[in-house]
Amino acid sequence: MDPLLHLPTIMVFHACSTLISALVIGNLWRQRPHSTLLGILTLAAAIAFFATIMHAMRSIVPFWMSAGAALGAGALSLGLLWQAIVVFEGRRPNYLRAAMGAVIWAVLFLLPVFQASITLRTTVISLIMGTYSMLAGREIWRGRRREPLASRKLAAGVHCARGVIWYAVLAASLLLAPAYTAPGHYAPWFVLASLAQALLIILSIMTLMILALEREERISRLAAARDPLTNVRNRRSFVLEAEAMLARNGGPAALLLFDIDHFKQINDTHGHATGDKVLSGFAAMLDARTQADWLFARIGGEEFACLIPNRSAEEGANIAETMRRAVEELHREFDSGLVAVTVSIGVAASNDVAAGLDSLFAAADVALYQAKGEGRNRVRCFSRDFVLLDDRPNDGGYPVAANKAQVPAALPFRISRQA
Ligand code: GH3
Ligand code: MG
Ligand code: MG
Repeated sequence: MDPLLHLPTIMVFHACSTLISALVIGNLWRQRPHSTLLGILTLAAAIAFFATIMHAMRSIVPFWMSAGAALGAGALSLGLLWQAIVVFEGRRPNYLRAAMGAVIWAVLFLLPVFQASITLRTTVISLIMGTYSMLAGREIWRGRRREPLASRKLAAGVHCARGVIWYAVLAASLLLAPAYTAPGHYAPWFVLASLAQALLIILSIMTLMILALEREERISRLAAARDPLTNVRNRRSFVLEAEAMLARNGGPAALLLFDIDHFKQINDTHGHATGDKVLSGFAAMLDARTQADWLFARIGGEEFACLIPNRSAEEGANIAETMRRAVEELHREFDSGLVAVTVSIGVAASNDVAAGLDSLFAAADVALYQAKGEGRNRVRCFSRDFVLLDDRPNDGGYPVAANKAQVPAALPFRISRQA
């Protein structure tokens, strides 16, 4: 026998890898004792350790221990690993499912015919272990759309690889030779499979920990991109994403700039807390009306923006008009309908202005000023026929917008808006 393929040595290595996993995860669990995920994982790794030790001692412990109890515990350990991943994906664990494999194994083990046949036992345990591993891999893979994490593919692949190896053990035991022929005599393919499983156990735990780190990083990245009051994008992430959208987008994009009318009065009359409620209600209602590829953000105090790809100014204005009407209905939600909320919306499309987000912003801002100047609660589209005439304020403090025939290709002004 090739000394490299010495099964007892590999069993010791296998046991060590489960012990290391149990210690590492157990230590994490000690720091976060309320984590169900870490609790289940620690239990799974500890059970796997005892299962491997018991199985490795097949020459000294009774058969029912080394084969019956050890492999049943191995099945339970993999079932628990699967359910730990279910918890990682945000669902409740099902311990019955985790124990099902061990229960099937225990019932079959009571049958003398089962105890007498190594091939039968190998077939059943490989099926149970292989299926649990595949289910664990599938669970990780399924969450990729809901929560895209860079290492999902690797983690799912590692768990599915464990499943494939178990199925290969099944095939080899049926087609080549039984795993064990006599005490101390084992098939070389079985030793290789045990070695691969021992390595994959370490990889399995490592990839799960990497996924947990990637999740934390993603949560803080998303939080940094969100406005805390309304939970929509903040100005910074809007600008970054909007620039990327304009750069990759072939067709025109329509920008809608929203400014809630007389918002200061809402604060003054109903209090700042109601003002906050109006802002979050306004944002939630409009955000729910946006499609997946639109960018909606709070870009200032009571100012919001929505960038819609592949829409002309006219199409953008139609969307803005339905949004404006929806805002008129919003008052029903606040203080028995006493808070009237209206919004002015300026619209511009990228094919009507000089290239770049700045020009688009400036143009939509001109249209917004026009909507304000004409009495508020209306939608106005940027037109080259309108420029800001001067700084003389109308009743609401907005410069008057007026027709002007000659307008240069690049906008002659820049409106600075606070972050
Ligand atoms: P206009 O129709 O001309 O836009 O009038 P307005 O009162 O909406 O505009 P103005 O810029 O004068 O006032 C905006 C107000 O928005 C002033 C500021 O106190 C309030 N505001 C800004 N951020 C918040 C916030 O987070 N919560 C609350 N409650 N109010 C805010
Ligand atoms: Mg404003
Ligand atoms: Mg306002």
